[in-house]
Amino acid sequence: MNQRIDGDGNIQVGHFVGDLTISQPDAVDPSNPNMAPCPACGNYGYWRIEECRRCGFPILKFVLDKENEYRRKEMSTKGVIAIVIGAALMAMTSLSWIPDSWKGQCTIFGLVALFIGFAILSAADKVR
Ligand SMILES: [Zn+2]
Repeated sequence: MNQRIDGDGNIQVGHFVGDLTISQPDAVDPSNPNMAPCPACGNYGYWRIEECRRCGFPILKFVLDKENEYRRKEMSTKGVIAIVIGAALMAMTSLSWIPDSWKGQCTIFGLVALFIGFAILSAADKVR
């Protein structure tokens, strides 16, 4: 079929045989890590903007809150693990089958682990 395109600004890109379908280019690239759907309305956009361009949802605050929540949980887990290890080491000093020569190290490492554990928990509490 012969076709003719009239008007200005038309660009011929080559000879084409068969059906030519021209679709609108995708404005959203799903592989772009800077793009995400708005949590409120689902509109795709940059997640580092203050507010959603469609509904005004505070996207940046939402994302930062989520990040901080994740960091707090991660730190709390590490703090609790350190405290459990510290408590176990301290408890070992009262066991009769533990050689006396080990009990000094158990006390020192137990106290260090407890100190680190509580320090991590108090730091996690300050993450905003
Ligand atoms: Zn939105």
